[in-house]
Amino acid sequence: MTELQPLPSVSPARPDWAAHAAALVAGVAAATRVVREEPMAPKTTLRVGGAARLYAEPASLADLQSLLRIARARGLPIFPLGRGSNLVVPDEGVDGLVVGFAHETWSRFEPLPDGRVRVGAGLRLKNLCGLATQAGLAGFEFLEGIPGAVGGALRMNAGAMGSWMFDVVEDVEMISLDGEVRRRAKAELHVDYRHCEELQDAIALAATLRPASRAEAEAIGGKIADYRRKRQESQPREASAGCIFKNPPGTSAGRLIDECGLKGERVGEAEVSRVHANFIVNRGGATGADVLELVRRIRARVQAAKGVDLQPEVLLYGRRWEDVL
Ligand SMILES: Cc1cc2nc3c(=O)[nH]c(=O)nc-3n(C[C@H](O)[C@H](O)[C@H](O)COP(=O)(O)OP(=O)(O)OC[C@H]3O[C@@H](n4cnc5c(N)ncnc54)[C@H](O)[C@@H]3O)c2cc1C
Repeated sequence: MTELQPLPSVSPARPDWAAHAAALVAGVAAATRVVREEPMAPKTTLRVGGAARLYAEPASLADLQSLLRIARARGLPIFPLGRGSNLVVPDEGVDGLVVGFAHETWSRFEPLPDGRVRVGAGLRLKNLCGLATQAGLAGFEFLEGIPGAVGGALRMNAGAMGSWMFDVVEDVEMISLDGEVRRRAKAELHVDYRHCEELQDAIALAATLRPASRAEAEAIGGKIADYRRKRQESQPREASAGCIFKNPPGTSAGRLIDECGLKGERVGEAEVSRVHANFIVNRGGATGADVLELVRRIRARVQAAKGVDLQPEVLLYGRRWEDVL
């Protein structure tokens, strides 16, 4: 079952969040933002859930290393955050340090002389597609419309249109929770459907990508427009976290849910999309609890009618699915 575990560390017995925050602030430069009780819903595409007890946006590698070392010494769970497009945040929020990569230092796009490109973990996939198009680099078009950043796409091995992220990755620069930076070649990494083993307990900083070929910007743009149109026709426009469940082997989770008559099923303001049954949409004021209850209901109905145990693809931020389902 897909679940989001805190990156390993010792759980504090009685967390003194104010003291933890003060220690983090003291360990970094002023350009690095460190705050308490940062609302998480606006940082996700589904827009539900509570606040992070501690939230930081490191402005440099040195500050990220500092944050990790201080958090580790204090036994704080650490949660990297990309664009929040694959997350359900519980209403009680996240007990730990959420590390966001919104600072521009993580958003680089750097074509190399040999035709490859270095990209930062915080670079939005949308910008990666746009910049690659301008540079005449083809092969990244399948990422168009996935509303994440490079780091989240590496962790999730995001995929669409018959390709996935690690098809174009050559190596990943990552940082361990002890603050040690290493570059790992793709051959050293264990990747699978929506999964990269080595990023379960490490944070991606950057990656080297290999384009499929060089092409005219117009041709690349045409393919991107085609993919965009396909998405617009098949996916809801309301707030969501993308596909809620993984496709079981040989079948589609959306089809199973649809065949159970669940399109339009609602709990509070959370609704099974009428456009694509594997999406839960937030019709405005949904809570994390609404989403969790709808996930439970869908699983129970599909299990009863089809005998299939659907596994969440989206991650429950700061908690384990098995504890709430
Ligand atoms: C409308 C919509 C359409 C979507 N379509 C697709 C699709 O076609 N294909 C697909 O695969 N997904 C799709 N998704 C899901 C989502 O966009 C992808 O999983 C995306 O890769 C998540 O990236 P993110 O930056 O938002 O990660 P987040 O949601 O912020 O985080 C996801 C996980 O990655 C971890 N993480 C984030 N940054 C890092 C980092 N730097 N290092 C290590 N771990 C990190 C987080 O801790 C979390 O465990 C869709 C979502 C939406 C809302």
